[in-house]
Amino acid sequence: MKRSHVISAALAATALALAAAPADAAPRKRAPARAPAHPKPIPVKPVVENPVADLPFPRFDRGPMVSSACTTGLEGAMLRVKELEKRKPGADWLKGWEALYDWEEDASGALIFLQNVHPNAEVRAESEKCDQRWSDFQAALGMNELVYQGARQSVAALKDPVDKRAAQLALEAFEDSGVALPKDKQARAKAIADKLVALGQQFNRNIRDARTRVAFTEAELKGVPEAAWKDQPRDADGKVTLSIDGPAYATVMQTAEDAGARERLWRAKTNEGGPENLKLLAQIGQLRLEQARLFGFASYDEFVLRRRMIETPARAARFLDDVRGAVADGDRRETAELREAKARHLGQPLDATRLQRWDTMFYAERLARERFAVDDEAFRPYFPPQESLRFVMRVAEKMFGVRYDKVDNAGTWAPEVQAWAVTDAASNRKIATLFVDPWPRDGKYNHAAVWNFRNGAGSVPRQAQSALVVNFDKRGLTLRELETLIHEFGHTLRNNLSATRYASDAGENVAQDFAEAPSQMLEDWVYDKKVLKVFQDVCPACRPVPDEMVDKARAARDFGKGMQVARQQLYASYDLALHGTTAPDPLETWEKMEAATPLGYVNGTTFPAGFAHVAGGYGAGYYGYLWSQAVATDMRTAFAGDKLDAKAGLRYRNSVLAEGAQKPPQQIVRDFLGRDLNAQAFFDSLKK
Ligand SMILES: [Zn+2]
Repeated sequence: MKRSHVISAALAATALALAAAPADAAPRKRAPARAPAHPKPIPVKPVVENPVADLPFPRFDRGPMVSSACTTGLEGAMLRVKELEKRKPGADWLKGWEALYDWEEDASGALIFLQNVHPNAEVRAESEKCDQRWSDFQAALGMNELVYQGARQSVAALKDPVDKRAAQLALEAFEDSGVALPKDKQARAKAIADKLVALGQQFNRNIRDARTRVAFTEAELKGVPEAAWKDQPRDADGKVTLSIDGPAYATVMQTAEDAGARERLWRAKTNEGGPENLKLLAQIGQLRLEQARLFGFASYDEFVLRRRMIETPARAARFLDDVRGAVADGDRRETAELREAKARHLGQPLDATRLQRWDTMFYAERLARERFAVDDEAFRPYFPPQESLRFVMRVAEKMFGVRYDKVDNAGTWAPEVQAWAVTDAASNRKIATLFVDPWPRDGKYNHAAVWNFRNGAGSVPRQAQSALVVNFDKRGLTLRELETLIHEFGHTLRNNLSATRYASDAGENVAQDFAEAPSQMLEDWVYDKKVLKVFQDVCPACRPVPDEMVDKARAARDFGKGMQVARQQLYASYDLALHGTTAPDPLETWEKMEAATPLGYVNGTTFPAGFAHVAGGYGAGYYGYLWSQAVATDMRTAFAGDKLDAKAGLRYRNSVLAEGAQKPPQQIVRDFLGRDLNAQAFFDSLKK
């Protein structure tokens, strides 16, 4: 996610630590980086470069092994920093910088990742502590004046474009950390950065610790499947109490016949975070504006977006306007359809029917069931777990000229974890290792995510390693789960098939608003009948999934898209409205913007109080969800005739996956498509 290994102090609230953050995980909550991890003096001795092409996965059976390995890793990193301070600007400096990067990944990547997956709780706890120590190290590195000067002079000295860009990205991370500011501003920037981290954490705590539950009689839960509420705790009156965080929320909103019950649950959810969070959000907005001004920018969005693919607030605003234009009809049409469905359901005249916000999920679900009669569960027998994994690999083999071979007896973090060697088919050269952790386990991360904890590089013999962490249902996957699998697998491809000169430029070290596009591009593959036939390649005994099931699932997926995208557009526009040249009142701004939508603003609600993305790492970045979809949709046009087209696939591998962050994202897309990025394909898809 991050382009360089300097955690910028100024952006500490938004930055995600090296290799520790999975693709698609919720923004991580961490303690502010403060005390230096190692106050003791650093022994100076010569540093040996240690390029290791492939590394076995480190074995840690007990907590103390983790903390001692963490200490060794940090000491090695500090030695390399000391050594880097003395290097000559230019090629020599860059070599030292990359050696530090490689060391950091090898010493911390796998170790920090373990907090999410290791079967031993003590190991997980120590891994989390180690994560914090590395964050502190990175914050300190971001403020290292000597290394910053080395980066600055190296950018000027280096001529080769790839070398120059690697140094440039390093320099940008230093600039954003505040190390280049005059001393008085530096202190203020640091104070703001620390404060922003603390406020963001408080914001999340207020949501998390509220543990809001809403009580219902069994009668009020009419229509809701028993499994969603039967085992939930009861209050003193014997009423069922449901959390607003768990899966029960969506189930109730989709299935509860009682509109009053839905309204109570919806209001509780929409007010989560409470009045205190509105104050925090206002404070966060003001501090971000002050921070941007310290760095010489008129607004926080300008400060943030200059490092992103979209580049400027003006371009982001224009893009969001175009999205609104493209989706307006669909939004109105779908809203009207849901209103009609409500009138029919209640047997009342349309004129007397008003669609409320707590009605939308309920009637969307009803209409989808009426029209498409899709049961996602019915897909499970067609997609057995291990074969599903082999299926996405086979798709990659066909498209990208690679091969996946299972490695026996590779030591990992749990016995059921699989290791796969990824080989370039043309040269028969192994290029990466993919670890797959397939089954649910106590203490394991419980969604699907990827940790790309080691990046490959061509300048030293160095192979990529990533971990795909999923929780397969033994009965097989639904089509939605298969879509999630190919999305996550897409993140591993970006790591595994990256072929940059330097690891710091590799894989997913790209701008935040470009990171998701390749994975989003592939989502559509599992709705393609020809692609699904590949399943029979890897499982001749599996029954082919019937075409009409896939057609219906596809139609159901697209139903409601107008309303959903209009909502995302509203969130993204709201986020930018908070981060312009003024810091407006969060609730007032929201009321005004939501009031202008077809369903309007509901008095007494405080949605922004629960909008954790904006308080955290996605401040001035929420637009990125839609933007990367536009990029994904445009790149997909190259596969319009045939999603398994090996020629287009190889071109995509070479110009997009292989290039990582080595070139600016706009140029990468241009090299692949042979023209500039064009969001029209995305807008067209919204009009369908
Ligand atoms: Zn993703």
